[in-house]
Amino acid sequence: MAETDIWRDFKYIPHKYNFSFASNTTYGCGGTAKAAFFPVCEDDAARLYFALKRSGEKFCILGCGSDTLAQDGFYDGYVLSTVRLSGIAETQTAYDGTVAISVSGGTKVYELLAYCKRRGLTGAEFLAGIPASVGGLAFMNGGADGKCMQDIVRSVKIADKNVRVLTAEECNFTYKHSTMRDITCLILEVKLLLKRSVPSVVAANIARRLIERRKLPAGRSCGCVFENYCGVSAGKIIENAGLKGLKMGGAYVSPAHANFIINCGKSSADVYALIAKVKDEVYKKYGITLKEEVCYIGDFK
Ligand SMILES: Cc1cc2nc3c(=O)[nH]c(=O)nc-3n(C[C@H](O)[C@H](O)[C@H](O)COP(=O)(O)OP(=O)(O)OC[C@H]3O[C@@H](n4cnc5c(N)ncnc54)[C@H](O)[C@@H]3O)c2cc1C
Repeated sequence: MAETDIWRDFKYIPHKYNFSFASNTTYGCGGTAKAAFFPVCEDDAARLYFALKRSGEKFCILGCGSDTLAQDGFYDGYVLSTVRLSGIAETQTAYDGTVAISVSGGTKVYELLAYCKRRGLTGAEFLAGIPASVGGLAFMNGGADGKCMQDIVRSVKIADKNVRVLTAEECNFTYKHSTMRDITCLILEVKLLLKRSVPSVVAANIARRLIERRKLPAGRSCGCVFENYCGVSAGKIIENAGLKGLKMGGAYVSPAHANFIINCGKSSADVYALIAKVKDEVYKKYGITLKEEVCYIGDFK
């Protein structure tokens, strides 16, 4: 492999050649990227991000890979993985029991909730069971149980042209959307506003959510593939179109929840073809164009 500037300047950052998307996304399919970097501190992550942008090389950002479908075959680019960019610090406590914590972008939900449980902090329990990073969730304004990230985010530190902080207002959170999705950027840190509680209450809230989530379909997926349409459940629309159980190659529409496409094969092309088929059928039947929530890496046709 040619010694590019990226290699020369950043090989001190933990990295892995021939990074497998199949092993690093919840869909469990996709090919390999030429390499992935795993920065462990914000400075390195930001410097690498700026260098990748300047280099003109192809690259993508990957959190926990729980909302990502990556192309099969060889992705001729780099992956900036945030999985080792994790850590939490309590930054501020107010008299009214409000507590601000700074969470590194790659911190996993289970790490965040373990911290909240230990420290008796409430407010983030609705995230329990989502197999995601906090940066990925802020990017998507993800959530569950009628709540989403915008309910607890105070600010987000990003790298785009430089490193800067977006206030919650500047994040422009809407359904499954944020400013961070519109501009190209790396989310370095998310500041959350939580409330002081007691560990046993937080633990019980988390346990309750985890029990509720057992109803979700098992199997390799990205959670919901499509965004709801004008407030109507995309799953219901797909179900009403008679597409539950539809199968293409190694992928099928879950008979339990029609917005879940389960991968039981090895091919991202199958998953993509089924997504396209569902979109097509829903359009033919209802004139509705469903929009994917799932994010793509690489080329799909
Ligand atoms: C079984 C299952 C259940 C799920 N349930 C839910 C649910 O209840 N609610 C919900 O909202 N979602 C759910 N999801 C979907 C998914 O977990 C969320 O969309 C989550 O926000 C993705 O986070 P991630 O770290 O895995 O992101 P990835 O899949 O790694 O990336 C998704 C996108 O975010 C970008 N991104 C990730 N991290 C950063 C960063 N630090 N900076 C800039 N961009 C970044 C990536 O470039 C990519 O475009 C579920 C998924 C699965 C597999």
